Parts: sequence; C-alpha cells; structure tokens
Amino acid sequence: MLIDRVTDARLAASPERSTLDLRDGRVARVGVFGEPTAPGTELALGGKLLAPALVDAHVHLDKAFLLDAAGPCAPTLPAAIASVAALRGRLPASVLRANAEQAIDRLVKNGVTAARVQVEIEPAVGLDLLHLQQELAHTARDRIELQLVAFPQLGLEAPGMLGLMSAALSEGVPVVGGCPYVDSDPAWHLDRVFELAERFARPIDLHLDFSDEPRRSLLSLVAERVRAHGVQGQVTIGHATTLAAMPIDAQAAALDLLAKSGIALVLLPATDLYLAGVGEPGTRSLAPLARARAAGVRVAIANNNLQNPFAPFGNANLAQAAWLAGVIGRAAEPTTRRWLFEAITSAPASLLGLPAHGPVTGAWAHLAVFDAAREEDVVLTAPAVLATLRAGRLVYRASSPEVRSA
Ligand SMILES: [Zn+2]
Repeated sequence: MLIDRVTDARLAASPERSTLDLRDGRVARVGVFGEPTAPGTELALGGKLLAPALVDAHVHLDKAFLLDAAGPCAPTLPAAIASVAALRGRLPASVLRANAEQAIDRLVKNGVTAARVQVEIEPAVGLDLLHLQQELAHTARDRIELQLVAFPQLGLEAPGMLGLMSAALSEGVPVVGGCPYVDSDPAWHLDRVFELAERFARPIDLHLDFSDEPRRSLLSLVAERVRAHGVQGQVTIGHATTLAAMPIDAQAAALDLLAKSGIALVLLPATDLYLAGVGEPGTRSLAPLARARAAGVRVAIANNNLQNPFAPFGNANLAQAAWLAGVIGRAAEPTTRRWLFEAITSAPASLLGLPAHGPVTGAWAHLAVFDAAREEDVVLTAPAVLATLRAGRLVYRASSPEVRSA
C-alpha cells in the first residue's frame, strides 16, 4: 500500500510533531503536524518515532534457521562450517527457500529495507543458491533491496571454484566475497579475490581473520592489496575479531591502517561473541566500534547468521545487535550512542553504495516507525518496530499505527 502522508511523527531533527508528504518514493516535504493537508492515504503515528529504515550490511539467508537440522555442534568456527557443509545437498531446496523467505520477513518486520546478502558459492551446490536468491531478491524487491555477494564459504582452492566465482560475477552479482581464513594460503586467496574484483569492476566484502590470536590478523595483507589495486573505499571486512584481542598499541595501529585504506568494518555481535573470545585469556571478541569510529573507520553492525551453528541467538533484529555491541563496547556516551545508531542506518547504507534515505526532504522514503521517542532509544532499548516503509510503500505494520484515507 502506497502512503501519501505520515502524520503525527516524532523526528530526531524536530521537537514538534511532524507531517511528511511522500511522493514518487521520496519524502517530498516535512511540515508541522496539524496543518491542513490534501486528500490521501495517511499513516498516523500517534507521536511515535519515525527514523531512517535500518540497513543490514551482512546477512546469510541460505543457511538461516538450520539450528535444529544441524544437531549438536561445538561453539567453534570450524565446527559450524563443517556442520552446515554436511547439510548441503541433503536439505531440500524447498526448505532452504522457506527459511530464506522467513528470514526476509523477519528483516522487514524489524525495520530493514536493504541488506547485503552473502550467497554461498561452492562445488557441492554450484550456483544453485545464487539462482534461488536472485529469484527471492526479485520477488521481494518492493519490500527490501537484497544486494548479493558471491561468497566462497569453503575457500577458493577447491577445483572449479574460480570458475564458479567468475560465472556468478558474469551473471551480474554486484559484490565479490572472500573468506581467506579457510584456505591454506590466505594471501593466495586474497590475490584471487582482488583479481576478480578488478576484472569485473566490483567492490569486495571479506569475512576476515576470525580468530582470537592477534598474530593471525590479515588486515595488513588486505591493506597492501587495497593499495596495490587502488581500491580505497571499496573494501569491507566483517568480523575481524583479532582486533578485539590485540594489545592497545597494535589495535590503534591496525585501526589507523583501516582508516587510511578506506576499509570499512562490520561487527557481527551474534556470531563474534558466540564463536570467538574463548581462548586463554578470553576476550570480548568484538572489534571496538568506538575506537574504530574515533580513528576514522566506517563501521556497521549487522546480523550475519540467524539461528544456526554460527549464531544460535541470531534473530534478525539489528536494533538488538546494536544494543549488544553497545553493552560489550561500553558505548554509552551520547556520541557513541549516535555511532551505534548510525552503524545500523546511514553507515551500512553508505557501505552498500545506496542513496540517502530517511525522514528528510528529498531523501528516499525508506522509513521505520519505532515504539520509542528518540533515535538513541533504538539502540538503548531495542524497541518494537511498528511499521516499515520502503519507497513510500507500507511493507509492514503492527496492530498500530493506523492507516486512514483522508
Ligand atoms: Zn558472514
């Protein structure tokens, strides 16, 4: 349903209740609530918070909700990878499709209107999961924009993998993924990823150095290749849990390197905290958001996995992921609360290369209504999402707010 006007909205930018006119998918005008308006379909918010819709910088739909199917699994990365790999080829496509559709529904209900989706490309499944998710992305396009990544979860060393990655990119997949820690030679893996990115002119999104040991950091290998290929600003890394385990000086140097190389960082709390940080001594295993932002690094917080061996507690709730990152990072200052909110809205939108959105004149009307009064309450309390709009279309609504024809 297309909405012409959102009324009685609370905006971060204004102490007054506001009315927003929506037209052609965008916010045409922001005015004061109560002024006379033209006829149209209204969404009446009753003073609830209207915020930019959330953007998920990193999520897996093709292994969502496999916790029960996988059975008992140790809370380690190799066990989680093996557990899901063992299911490939055994689970009917209908189950994978239903699970992915459920994941999309949950994202939209949680206020997400765009997501970067890591699509597994591997010899056992070829491009089957890609074709499934291309179809889902097309079907769901009015509700959510799904930006697909060709992701080699089991590495690039297996015979045929480089051909499969090239085939996926030839079919138009817009982002090259990578997973250097699973191959015997991570530098070789990175070289292949950067070559593919150059050949197909695509940005890069890496799963990186998922370890508690600082010496296993791959950041400098990535930064060297960013420099060599001249792709500053086009590379994103997820996890980078080694950052959490580094001595403070080494961490500061690593964050400085990320900032200088224009490498963006994505924290994935539901997985990072579950699968890492278990060494001796244990760490908090979540890269430091506040220090990274202070160093000038672009940072997003994302879902990663949903209820599977990689993230049994993954729940598609980005506000809760930001809340959790705030607790772990002790990010309670007004500035760091703002960074947490930006890490699930404007920062991931920028990483995905999306145009500006939110309750601002001229921006795309991708909007979320929260049962909250202030934007910082979104990350302090992870409140309920009451409605989600994409390009002015109401794509989710709880029992309130009310839709009226005026
Ligand atoms: Zn991932």
